[in-house]
Amino acid sequence: MDYYGIGFSNIRLPNSSESYIYKYDRRVNQFPEEVFLHEFLHTLERNSKEYGYEIPELHAYESYGYKNETVFGQKEWYKDYMNKEIVTSVGNVGLPQEIYKLKPAKNSNFENVTERTDVFKEPENILDEIKQIIDRIKTKIEERG
Ligand SMILES: [Zn+2]
Repeated sequence: MDYYGIGFSNIRLPNSSESYIYKYDRRVNQFPEEVFLHEFLHTLERNSKEYGYEIPELHAYESYGYKNETVFGQKEWYKDYMNKEIVTSVGNVGLPQEIYKLKPAKNSNFENVTERTDVFKEPENILDEIKQIIDRIKTKIEERG
């Protein structure tokens, strides 16, 4: 996702710690880290595009002949995506190997997102909430002169 030129991802997980997604289970889930890897790869996907590399969309596994497997999820796709080993008629594609050593392409990626959330009326996080309290105290002190 993109917010004021800053990319971020929001990972929502089930509340129940009994959920199969948290556990390695030989029969049900052999890739519990998938959701975290997926979101991390979006960052590298974005960085690659911002550096001008032509790479496959992270979500496009099916158009390259990969499947979402029951127990392994998209593990094969991610492995080939990360190693640039997706076979196509024009050669292997995937993330450029250099991307693991490059910082994000744009300076806006380094700006602190909490400084930019004041467009919202409601505090969105604990830092905003603290900042609002401090601002209220400052205003009160100024009013008393
Ligand atoms: Zn995604």
